[in-house]
Amino acid sequence: MQTPLIDLQDIRKSYGGDDAPEVHVLRGIDLSIHAGEFVAIVGASGSGKSTLMNILGCLDRPTSGEYRFAGENVAGLDSDELAWLRREAFGFVFQGYHLIPSGSAQENVEMPAIYAGTPAAERHARAAALLDRLGLAERTGNRPHQLSGGQQQRVSIARALMNGGHIILADEPTGALDSHSGKEVMALLDELASQGHVVILITHDREVAARAKRIIEISDGLIISDNAHENPSAQNSATAGALQAVDLRKRLSEGAEATGAWKGELVDAVHAAWRVMWINRFRTALTLLGIIIGVASVVVMLAVGEGSKRQVMAQMGAFGSNIIYLSGAAPNPRTPPGIVTLDEVAALASLPQINRIMPVNGAEAGVRFGNLDHMSYIGGNDTNFPAIFNWPVVEGSYFTQADEANGAAVAVIGKKVRDKLLKDVANPIGQYILIENVPFQVVGVLEGKGASSGDQDSDNRIAIPYSAASVRLFGTHNPEYVVIAAADARKVHETEKAIEQLMLQLHNGKRDFELTNNAAMIQAEARTQNTLSLMLGSIAAISLLVGGIGVMNIMLMTVRERTREIGIRMATGARQRDILRQFLTEAVMLSVVGGIAGIALALLVGGVLILSEVAVAFSLMAVVGAFACALVTGVVFGFMPARKAARLDPVTALTSE
Ligand code: ADP
Ligand code: MG
Repeated sequence: MQTPLIDLQDIRKSYGGDDAPEVHVLRGIDLSIHAGEFVAIVGASGSGKSTLMNILGCLDRPTSGEYRFAGENVAGLDSDELAWLRREAFGFVFQGYHLIPSGSAQENVEMPAIYAGTPAAERHARAAALLDRLGLAERTGNRPHQLSGGQQQRVSIARALMNGGHIILADEPTGALDSHSGKEVMALLDELASQGHVVILITHDREVAARAKRIIEISDGLIISDNAHENPSAQNSATAGALQAVDLRKRLSEGAEATGAWKGELVDAVHAAWRVMWINRFRTALTLLGIIIGVASVVVMLAVGEGSKRQVMAQMGAFGSNIIYLSGAAPNPRTPPGIVTLDEVAALASLPQINRIMPVNGAEAGVRFGNLDHMSYIGGNDTNFPAIFNWPVVEGSYFTQADEANGAAVAVIGKKVRDKLLKDVANPIGQYILIENVPFQVVGVLEGKGASSGDQDSDNRIAIPYSAASVRLFGTHNPEYVVIAAADARKVHETEKAIEQLMLQLHNGKRDFELTNNAAMIQAEARTQNTLSLMLGSIAAISLLVGGIGVMNIMLMTVRERTREIGIRMATGARQRDILRQFLTEAVMLSVVGGIAGIALALLVGGVLILSEVAVAFSLMAVVGAFACALVTGVVFGFMPARKAARLDPVTALTSE
């Protein structure tokens, strides 16, 4: 006699015990089923049929007794091996169909093959062929709610057959169907039995049970009749060999370890995740706000920070990194600011560290041309201007030494002044403008600096001879500030020290002046940057934390809403790690979507900022970094719910509401 495929000895199952009253549902079942048999298990409702089927299908474990599958004691198998067995050996057909509501018929049928690692093309073809064979060729794209009960049951039979379905376990398959659909399903099971599948049919209906060759009657958790001996089993060849003991142990350990499935599963998981997100898109969007804001704020603020840094850099480049500014300053709030005189400028000029020195006598003033008025910075300075600031003229020419000597009323105007006041004039050279009602003749137009310095206001400037500024406009000969070019750009600091020393000497030790340079400006900028980064980091951290909790919240809800689906997936052969991977994928998908939305929002905000002339420089690093943070958030906060899903007990999950 061959080893029976299924061999139960004294199987008992009881529920409750600790606090609830103990219920003995199965009270000592002995049963063996051989390859090729068509068995009906019949009994009244509540007699323990479903409990028995769940044990047979390795969805549940008995409280005591021994279950040998093809000679192998099932109690010794771990959860992965049980999953393998469900996937390779069994095909379940339930009274309530148990299809995954968000998937199409085709996707539902393909699911067991995904967990088995069948290549996509083969999977698609096989699922299509099965659906065609069951008369559902036209319905492959329909979701369960678009199918009738009979059609849904046929889809679930196709799913049971997907991986071979050597043993079909059908629990009241016709229970929810009208008599016509019920007959169709029964005919199908008949046909499968005659093709060599082991069919175990569970029913309370004797008439339905009568289709089977062997009828086992169960009552109150005990077998009360079994006509096995009147009906020696068929031992049909097709399955007979397929699952025999030969090397089950080896195949089990290999199968449970199979890794080829991950790619198909990943695609499936991403698909499923996307569908679930799409169905609940409003809820998803709301919950993702944390991540979106976190990512967007990081990217935007870094971009603004980087933008202003580059602007300062550009200014430094545009005006020269060797420039030092000297001006009077109050040593303390009660004393008036000191004055730097032209004599002192002359004294400083003799310092060897200094290349050029140029006093500037300037102020904001009103400028008029025709009937147009404009405020601009009027700087009285000498002819060092173009060289010291590296700032050439594009029209006309700079004023000359002679103009300076004569105090000539001539002006070299910045680009912005040209654009504001003289835009309608083809040739501004020779035109007269009024500065504080004093007429000045335009002799040149400066090149635009704004584009390169990032500071449009640097072009809102008019350069006039120092002498003219002092006499005609401001009534003082003292400079507002002094521009000094260090001879060596690498020794700005030393130059500054030398100037400081001489100035202290000239001012009798009184520190009523101030020295700044572009390098110092950069440093100040860097300090601001650090503060900004810190602030930004905390905003991002808080947002991502909130976002992460959002993801966790969604995932916990998802796991609760889809407990049944998890059960179905387990029944079709998903291992714990497959479920874990799926829900983790969903969590990561969520945060990836949040991250992408955040980056999109950041770009949008950045665009608006650019339009309002704020310097913005997006860095790839910031974008990638923020995105990676979102991803990590998904993994970290998705893990707990995913593990919760993976640890669900197959029967509990399957029978949940
Ligand atoms: P059948 O499928 O034959 O109608 P079941 O196997 O579903 O019967 O259930 C048999 C008995 O076991 C019922 O009395 C039911 O109340 C009990 N039962 C089933 N599952 C549980 C459970 N998880 N906890 C407690 N009792 C259960
Ligand atoms: Mg039942």
